[in-house]
Amino acid sequence: MTLTPLPIDGVLPPLLRALDQRRRLVLEASTGAGKTTRVPWALANHPPLRGGQVVVLEPRRLAARLAAERVAHEQGLSLGRQVGYAVRFERRTSAGTRLVFITEALLTRRLQQDPQLRGISAVVLDEIHERHLHSDLALALIDALQREQRPDLYWLAMSATLDGEALAQRFDAAWLRCPGRQYPVTIEHLSQPSQQPLDRQVAMGVRQLLRAGVRGHVLVFLPSLAQLRRAAARCQALTREHGLALHLLHGRLPRAEQDRAVRPSRQQKLIIATNVAESSITIDGIEAVVDSGLANVASQQPYRSLSRLRAEPISQASAAQRSGRAGRTGPGRCLRLYTERDFQRRPRFDTPAIVRSDLCELLLTLTLSGQQHHKLRWLTPPPPAHIDAAAQLLRRLHVIDEHGRATADAAELAHLPLHPRHARALLEAARLGVADTATEALALLGEQLDLRRAHGGQRQHDSSLWQQLRLLAGEGGAAPDRRSVDRIERVAAQLRRQLSRLRVKIKSKPNNDDEVTHSFTVAMLRGFPDRVAKRVGDKTPKQGDTLTLALVDGGRAVMRQLASLGPEGFCLLLRAQQRPNQPALVHMAMPVTINALLDAFADIIVDDEQLSFHPQRQRMERISRMLLGGLVLDESRTAASAGPALVKPLLDNIARAGYAAVLDVDEWQRLRRRLAAALFANDTAAADKLLTQTLTQLCGEHTSFAALRQRDVLQCLRSSLAKNQRQQLQQRAPEQLDMGAGRRLKVHYPHAAPAYVEGYLQDFFGRAQLPRIGPKPLVVKLCAPNRRPVQVTDDLAGFWHHHYPTLRKQLSRRYPKHHFPEHPESAPPVLLKRQLHSGDKRRRRDRVGGPKQGRS
Ligand code: ADP
Ligand code: MG
Repeated sequence: MTLTPLPIDGVLPPLLRALDQRRRLVLEASTGAGKTTRVPWALANHPPLRGGQVVVLEPRRLAARLAAERVAHEQGLSLGRQVGYAVRFERRTSAGTRLVFITEALLTRRLQQDPQLRGISAVVLDEIHERHLHSDLALALIDALQREQRPDLYWLAMSATLDGEALAQRFDAAWLRCPGRQYPVTIEHLSQPSQQPLDRQVAMGVRQLLRAGVRGHVLVFLPSLAQLRRAAARCQALTREHGLALHLLHGRLPRAEQDRAVRPSRQQKLIIATNVAESSITIDGIEAVVDSGLANVASQQPYRSLSRLRAEPISQASAAQRSGRAGRTGPGRCLRLYTERDFQRRPRFDTPAIVRSDLCELLLTLTLSGQQHHKLRWLTPPPPAHIDAAAQLLRRLHVIDEHGRATADAAELAHLPLHPRHARALLEAARLGVADTATEALALLGEQLDLRRAHGGQRQHDSSLWQQLRLLAGEGGAAPDRRSVDRIERVAAQLRRQLSRLRVKIKSKPNNDDEVTHSFTVAMLRGFPDRVAKRVGDKTPKQGDTLTLALVDGGRAVMRQLASLGPEGFCLLLRAQQRPNQPALVHMAMPVTINALLDAFADIIVDDEQLSFHPQRQRMERISRMLLGGLVLDESRTAASAGPALVKPLLDNIARAGYAAVLDVDEWQRLRRRLAAALFANDTAAADKLLTQTLTQLCGEHTSFAALRQRDVLQCLRSSLAKNQRQQLQQRAPEQLDMGAGRRLKVHYPHAAPAYVEGYLQDFFGRAQLPRIGPKPLVVKLCAPNRRPVQVTDDLAGFWHHHYPTLRKQLSRRYPKHHFPEHPESAPPVLLKRQLHSGDKRRRRDRVGGPKQGRS
């Protein structure tokens, strides 16, 4: 076949010359100029590169296959001989293949296995502007490889939209631009945001374009396959009416369907596509574009490898790229299903994946190639925090050790086309004899499928992975969705094939079902060590309840009750969605037994012993726990044995509970004031210190409040006083005042007032002096025979002298039976029958009730 001339043809000779000089080049040329189909083939035939393979990185599987097919077709070769392609699980190459189109992730895998890229003479990075994680990584590593070890290696980065000059400068590369031909494209925006569902908007947009006289193909951009299908259904009548062929274009559709969508055709076509059609593949004859302004973006952060893709607004650059597809063969039109204001507000470029992605694979690749991220040149450097998070996960997966070096397993794991966590789970499963179950489960997870959906999300189906595996095995009642099942089985078979190539001893399957379940659970746990969760709360939930879960690294998640969740409530979260300011929402999980946790994490489960106060039992307890991160696997409590370590916590808990918990507070208050008065010049703080000392001593010997009460704290305090202190206490602040003839009056020690005694006037006959309590005189409250107080004084002699004579006359008249002597200070005391305070019984009650209570 004679080649159609393309704009790129003219720059091929200078391009090769520049490459020979610099070995690195950035090529900027508009879509359709011939970059993908002409440049790699020219490299493959360039004599200095003949010694090895030319590898071209394409952003998507579809692009890799179509590019290889196109080049083979143009050059009259059969695909898979000199020109081939390789994508995950699919390869069309042979020993003689000189040019191979591969997906970017495949080069990452290749770099992990052979960091020198032996046998490769040139790497072409196509559509570098898409800024995928793997292409950014490839560029950084190839740049370093060429500078350090492979000066013979050529690399070439190509794009239609990138700022090529800046890129070239950054990487010290030659820069070439090829002017292309782009016809004007008329762009229309919505005047205001539409409330209609997207499929209706698409149908209306297409109808509008056809009415306006569009006769070329119409290309629609939507975010997901589901949206594609919905829009197609909506447009069916319209396409029939106007005689259009309707095609869907998506990476997951069968190859024949994809080919029909891109193949040149005389019949007018309506092609409904995702952003696979945005830049990397060529569809000739597009006159109009309908752009939803959305693209599916993998949501990142903790759950990235588990959560679904989400439709997000595309950048201005992407929008320009989409509309540009209408101006390839003549003037075109683009209808944007969003407002111009919306467009203006969008970011100019898409955020590079490297700043919003899980970096485990990136870090593993760097580790296996002996590179350090901060020593490489990057288009955008990976955020250090994300590198740290990735390092942490890789360590937990035993892919790297604590020094950041690859473990013995790392190279094997790198041979599996899976995220390191899935690879770890599969490797463990193989070692435990449950590879078959694991390949199916990982295919289901990796392909983001949910078989419940195909069953209309029936109520009885919970979020268990086992449920899904049963549906897959056709045991779920209704017939499973054939397409999903086929895909899972295809991927599972591929994984089994890959596994058989590893140098891993694959155990044969245990013949007991329980053992299969256990081993599979252990394998999955080892792949998802950061996703263990435990039900919060003790109540046994009912079917259909929503459970709250605590995650091993902290944080919360919610989930519909798992039918098979064990009583301990442990599970492994396999698919969950992170939500801002809300607990994560779990879509798929599996129950986990304690035994499985013990087997999976023997090396990281820690035994923790803690002393803690039990508020109900009011004692210090020794709590022995088995901990997995923040989760308690098992816990037992026993009474702690006394020791110095318990003193402080016990004292703290007494302080929290109040002294009443361990002693008689009123008695203490009395003692406290007596101590202050007798020994410490009325400084109660010094008395408090004494109590603290006593308690400190006792807390070293006992572990519960009950034991402290039993010991009688205040008695211990008194006993701790020196002999002379005890005497001073008794003398200077007596408990009772001896009135002679066996009669005693209790001395009251009120708060913030002087100590006093209370008695009948007659009690004090024969006395002129009162003892001093500490520095202050004792106060007396003198009562008449009817117990009414008649005087309060601390100067008894003064009272007898000044007030008594008048009082005596009144009292003698009112109480003729009583004798009130003229000279009371020298008269003998009279003991009244009814004493104000009498008897042991009374005294004992006073100790509890205080001085004012319960007068008899
Ligand atoms: P670029 O990579 O610069 O965007 P390509 O190399 O993919 O351009 O395509 C160059 C030209 O080759 C396109 O403009 C188109 O005319 C033609 N072409 C590419 N692929 C196909 C194909 N599969 N079928 C028909 N024509 C194609
Ligand atoms: Mg291209």
